[in-house]
Amino acid sequence: MRIAIAGGGLGGLTLARILRRHDIEAVVYEREASRSARPQGGMLNLHPESGQQALAEAGLAGRFRSEARPEGEEHRILDPAGRTLVHHRPQPGSFSGRPEIDRSALRDLLLDSLPGDAVAWQHRLVAATPRPDGGFGLTFHGRPGADCDVLVGADGARSVVRSLLTDAELSYVATLVELTISDADRRHPDLAELVGPGNLWCIGVNQILAAQRLGDGSVRVGISLRAADRDLDTYRSKRALLDLFEGWDPSLTALIEAGDSAPTSRRIEAMPIGTRWANQPGITLIGDAAHLMPPVGEGANQAMLDAAELAAELAANPTDPNSAIRTYEEAMFTRIHPIAELSARAQAMILSPTAANDIIRFFTTPPTPQPEPPEPAHPSAR
Ligand SMILES: Cc1cc2nc3c(=O)[nH]c(=O)nc-3n(C[C@H](O)[C@H](O)[C@H](O)COP(=O)(O)OP(=O)(O)OC[C@H]3O[C@@H](n4cnc5c(N)ncnc54)[C@H](O)[C@@H]3O)c2cc1C
Repeated sequence: MRIAIAGGGLGGLTLARILRRHDIEAVVYEREASRSARPQGGMLNLHPESGQQALAEAGLAGRFRSEARPEGEEHRILDPAGRTLVHHRPQPGSFSGRPEIDRSALRDLLLDSLPGDAVAWQHRLVAATPRPDGGFGLTFHGRPGADCDVLVGADGARSVVRSLLTDAELSYVATLVELTISDADRRHPDLAELVGPGNLWCIGVNQILAAQRLGDGSVRVGISLRAADRDLDTYRSKRALLDLFEGWDPSLTALIEAGDSAPTSRRIEAMPIGTRWANQPGITLIGDAAHLMPPVGEGANQAMLDAAELAAELAANPTDPNSAIRTYEEAMFTRIHPIAELSARAQAMILSPTAANDIIRFFTTPPTPQPEPPEPAHPSAR
């Protein structure tokens, strides 16, 4: 069985790794030129029941513990005047919660676990065509094509493979503007102290100024704004951003001023809640390709769990991959639906006029069935 995985992000690499542990080979086709072709972004916290479980199935739990930064779970929530609303400190050295790990460290950990030829770099999939005898012919930009029996779309938010299964359209849910402050301890010790070892969220009306510390000593600043019809270029000037935060305490807006270079901005998008498709032989989706959600702390975790569940089904049913895919998809649709609903609600809440009160309630109300504490789209990812 020739398995092709389009996309070497967290989902695609986790899938390749777990399949190899079951002696099933798969080729990952990744559009980027190499593992270091672009910065991977900020931190992710991995949940025990999803991301960490997938890493355990990948045989990488030990490596995760040595790379993770449990102290990164510390977070402070401030109001625009700089007053502390919530200060959460994890138990020192504890792995019992949702330890943070730099996205680049996590991706390296997965890449290092695969043989060198498992990832075909610089292979941007542009089309997949069903073959009359089953499977797919794959067309890459500027590269010879390839054939496969099973195609897994792990190609992220703007998946090419998705269009073979569903015509679900993305909707624009928020704007994210990002800046990096490199070498923060030395160059901006006051800001490094303000952010602490984990996350800082400063919550205003319909807008959040967030920052997080990475393992390389940099601070990544992420500004979340409501979706608007404005040109994204509007946000590419620090002056324009500072105007948005007029009246905020200067110790907070200093995070914008300290950015190394001009801000970058992008749309945050989501697929319709409850997206599903009719099963088709030899093809499926995992991760953002299957269920792009607002970034409130679930996407990477669910992508990795998708990978683990799909790998387990394919390993249990190697002679009937279509039945394995069907079983995986049904379970995945059922698992994702409530998570997508909660993510949409959390996204709306964190950019609402009452966000500060709502978020404090999340942290101070006793945990009746555990909702995900909302995480503003801090700059952890693409
Ligand atoms: C700002 C922000 C913060 C976030 N924070 C968190 C968080 O704290 N916790 C969490 O769990 N999730 C978080 N997420 C969500 C998380 O980043 C995604 O859900 C996760 O990366 C999805 O993994 P994936 O493997 O499906 O896709 P991706 O990580 O997007 O990987 C897709 C891969 O496919 C490649 N690719 C794309 N198109 C092609 C093509 N045509 N051919 C070949 N290769 C292709 C890409 O280069 C990429 O390597 C955040 C997202 C954002 C935007």
